[in-house]
Amino acid sequence: MLPAYISHPDCLKHDMGDQHPEAPARLGAIQDMLLIKGLLDCMQTYDAPRATEQQLAQAHSTLYIRTLASMVPQEGSVQVDPDTSMNPHSYQAALRAAGAAVLAVDLVLRGEAPNAFCNIRPPGHHAEYAAAGGFCFFNNAAVAIRHALNVHGLQRVALIDFDVHHGNGSEDILHHDERVLMCSIFEDKLYPYSGNTPRGPNMVNVPLPARSGGELLRTSVAEFWLPALERFQPQLIVVSAGFDGHRDDDMGNLGLVEADYAWMTRQIMGVARRHAQGRVVSCLEGGYDLSSLARSAAAHVKVLLGLDD
Ligand SMILES: [Zn+2]
Repeated sequence: MLPAYISHPDCLKHDMGDQHPEAPARLGAIQDMLLIKGLLDCMQTYDAPRATEQQLAQAHSTLYIRTLASMVPQEGSVQVDPDTSMNPHSYQAALRAAGAAVLAVDLVLRGEAPNAFCNIRPPGHHAEYAAAGGFCFFNNAAVAIRHALNVHGLQRVALIDFDVHHGNGSEDILHHDERVLMCSIFEDKLYPYSGNTPRGPNMVNVPLPARSGGELLRTSVAEFWLPALERFQPQLIVVSAGFDGHRDDDMGNLGLVEADYAWMTRQIMGVARRHAQGRVVSCLEGGYDLSSLARSAAAHVKVLLGLDD
């Protein structure tokens, strides 16, 4: 039984223009690095299915889903927010990205994979219950979590978000759901300028000042995330895996390195082993400097595979 690697060629067809950082090349950079490092050989590859409207509606309003579908242009692009646009392929890519996360939950909860990494775009954690934004259309992680709770009948799922930006969309969707504990770190005073005041008791928000570096990150995770996770005893951990906090990535200024992502992943795996039978579903979020994105994602996946020792 191998960890799952889930992606889809449709995710490459969503394109917001040559100058846009959320570029199709991100997925290839990660896949190439996993291949070069021999990690992909240790994984079972799956093509992502399309998420169904019923699955998406666990995390989004039906009106929003249908409005987004109706906006797909025949050609060219339409702007959804100042940073986010759709081309003729974007909606299919978004369905595949959310579908990957749903398949990952199915595989892991059916015992067909110990854990899963979804190499997907568009990302999801800025997508709210009824709003796209910040390069995101559907909240892949939130859709996966609701699928685990509502279809598989789990009672407690944790969401870990280590993207450099606050996961405002995930908080919007999940803050009133006591079956979910969301733990995040993000850079303070950075887009989307939210998260300083948690919207619910199930939100462990840890804003970090710019240039915090790995040491403050690690002490913050140990002080805030881990005790909350131990109390919560998640039956599954979903990860919003954004790598834009890397010091080589211009999108943020946290100054993290590959070893910090590996360390966080080891903490997540530890909690998962103690409470969740090791079950982790990781979904790509941000990370825009292709080289550090690929290296950081590989460091993360290597720990998921148990090959980092
Ligand atoms: Zn981000």
